[in-house]
Amino acid sequence: MSKGFDKYKVSSEYDVIDFTKIAFAEREKEIISNTQKIDTKNSLYISSSAKENIFSHIGWGKDISSNSVEQGGLLIGHSYKNRSDNSIIGHVEVAIPATTAKGSMTYLEFNHATWKMMMDKLDAINEATIERDLQIIGWYHTHPGRLSVFMSGTDMNTQRKMFSKEWQFAIVLNPQKQFWRAFNGRNAEECNGYMLSK
Ligand SMILES: [Zn+2]
Repeated sequence: MSKGFDKYKVSSEYDVIDFTKIAFAEREKEIISNTQKIDTKNSLYISSSAKENIFSHIGWGKDISSNSVEQGGLLIGHSYKNRSDNSIIGHVEVAIPATTAKGSMTYLEFNHATWKMMMDKLDAINEATIERDLQIIGWYHTHPGRLSVFMSGTDMNTQRKMFSKEWQFAIVLNPQKQFWRAFNGRNAEECNGYMLSK
């Protein structure tokens, strides 16, 4: 058992990996989410490889036709509860883009075919790992163009229906303005967000 952190939903007989070693080893440079000062220790860490998955999917820093509509996908990794202060910490290890989702300027739909494609991908990723216990710890989507990054009413419905656990997260990104924010739990309360780069 790693010291200080309880891993959620441990679904294998393997030892719990030491979160502090894997995530904080990458911490040298961080892109911090666009947050005002917020009063929570809940935090989402996005690994450098997951960041690359997301940024290439959504054309981060580019203004192109593919990212002029909403895009999104799943955040895959592990969540932890810090025993000392009960804060929730998510570590995104992989992102799965919903490449077949239909997006419009203000709406993103994950239909059945999209879900199936993403689940198949998650199965394949887990089959390729020793632990096979990567979880869906949340979702990401874009608010393109002039939109600000926040959880809309539709987004809140999605959060409550599909990602309502206290260990699940959402991130909303604007690829053109290069803003992003992270949210946590059923009520999608803003939390700290860090993109890690080695
Ligand atoms: Zn939205």
